[in-house]
Amino acid sequence: MYVTTALRTALAAATEDQIVFDLAGIAERHATLLRELPGLSVRFAMKACPVDEVLCTLAQQGAGFDAASPAEIAQAISAGAPIDTIHFGNTIKSDQHIADAYRLGVRDFATDSMEDVRAIARHAPGARVFCRLATDGEGALWGLSRKFGCTPSDAVRIMAAARAAGLTPAGLSFHVGSQQMTAEAWRSAIDRLAGVLTALGRRGIRLDHINLGGGLPALGCLDRYGRRLNPPLDKIFAVIREGMQQLRAIAGTPLDFLMEPGRHLVADHGAIRAHVARLSAREQLGGERAHWLYLSCGKFNGLYEMDGLQYPLVFPTHSGAHYIPAVIAGPTCDSDDAYGPGLVLVPEAAASGDPVWIMSCGAYATSYTTQGFNGFSPLPYTWIDGDRTGRGGAPLTAQPAAQPPAPAPAPAQPPAQQLDAAAIAGGLA
Ligand SMILES: *Cc1c(COP(=O)(O)O)cnc(C)c1O
Repeated sequence: MYVTTALRTALAAATEDQIVFDLAGIAERHATLLRELPGLSVRFAMKACPVDEVLCTLAQQGAGFDAASPAEIAQAISAGAPIDTIHFGNTIKSDQHIADAYRLGVRDFATDSMEDVRAIARHAPGARVFCRLATDGEGALWGLSRKFGCTPSDAVRIMAAARAAGLTPAGLSFHVGSQQMTAEAWRSAIDRLAGVLTALGRRGIRLDHINLGGGLPALGCLDRYGRRLNPPLDKIFAVIREGMQQLRAIAGTPLDFLMEPGRHLVADHGAIRAHVARLSAREQLGGERAHWLYLSCGKFNGLYEMDGLQYPLVFPTHSGAHYIPAVIAGPTCDSDDAYGPGLVLVPEAAASGDPVWIMSCGAYATSYTTQGFNGFSPLPYTWIDGDRTGRGGAPLTAQPAAQPPAPAPAPAQPPAQQLDAAAIAGGLA
C-alpha cells in the first residue's frame, strides 16, 4: 500500500465521507519525475484530476497542462499556467473548439488526421501542431489504441500538409495506454517515432519537441484479483532516458521533451474516507453463501475504475479483527458498481457506519463522477498541504492555520489483505 503519513492523518481526522488530496505528495511526485527524466517538462493531463488546488500546486511547480477542451484550457489558465505551457492535446475537436482555444491564446494543437489539420489551419492560422502516432496499447490496463493516432506514413503526410497549410509542424507524440505496466511499450513507441522523425528530416521538416504522452502507472493499486501490480518504474524511466538520447541524435537539432502524465502524479496522493453501508451474507443462485461488503461510495462517485483494478482498503476501527473474504461493491442499483472478480478480506464485524479508507484512488475520481446517480452525490473534496488544510472550492490562500492533527490510530491489517478469488474459493461455501 502506498500512503503518506500526512494522508493517513487526514483520513483519520475525517468524520464525513470525502476525497482527500495530498498536495505536497503530488508536488513531490512531480519533482521526482523531473529528477528521473532530466530535460523533461510536464503537461499534466487535466482529466485525471481537474481539481483547482491540484492544478495550482502543479502550476507553481512549473508544470503546464494537457487540456482537451476550451473549458479545461480556461481552468488551466486560472490555475496560473502560462499560456505557452498549455496545449490542446485532444485530437478530437470541433471547429468551434479550435477557434475558442485559439482565442484563449493556445498555439499548440495535437492532431492525427488531414481533416483536423485543415480545420486547425482555418480556425487557428499559423498554429503549431504535433502529430500523435497510434500505439497498440498492449501492456496497459486501459489501451488507448483505435480511437487515436495515425500510422507512421500518415504522420509524414499530415505534417507535410500542415506545413503546406501555413502551420508549424512542431512535434510528435504518442500515448502507450493508461497504467502501462511494461517498459517495452515505451521502447517500441519511441522506435516507431524515431522512424517518423527520420522520414520528416528527409523532407526538411525539423521538429522542436517530442511528447512522450501519459501512461505512467500509479504505484499503490492492485489488479482486479487483488494482487500488487508492482509496475517496473525504474526500468520505464531508464528506457525513456535512453529513448530521449536516441531521438536527440536523430533530430540533429535541439529537441524539447514533454510528457503528459495524469494518473502517475495524482493516484497515490488521493484517498477516500468512506463508510460501510452493510456487510451481508447472501446465498448465491449457485447455492454458495457469499459475503458482500457494500461501501458508501462506488463506481459512480469516486471509484469509476473499480471494475478494472482494486484500490487497497483500510478498516481503521478494526485492528486485529477476524477477517473474511467478501465481494466489494458500491451503494447503487447497478451491478457494475463493484470490484472485479477478486475477493477482499474484510473484518467480519464490520458494521454499518464504520469508516473505510480507500487508498490510491486520486486519479479519475472527481472527473468520472455522476451527478447524483441513484441520489448518491459527488463526494466533497478536501486537501492537505504540509500543515495547511482546506475544503474544495475555498480560496487557496485564505486558509486558517490547521488544527494540530489528531493522532492516527494504527490500523492493524493482516499481512495479505487482498487474496486471489481462486485461492479462497473454498472458504466461501
Ligand atoms: C488521458 C491522457 C493522458 C494521461 O494519461 P494517464 O494514463 O493518466 O497518464 C495523457 N495524454 C493524453 C492525450 C490523454 O488523453
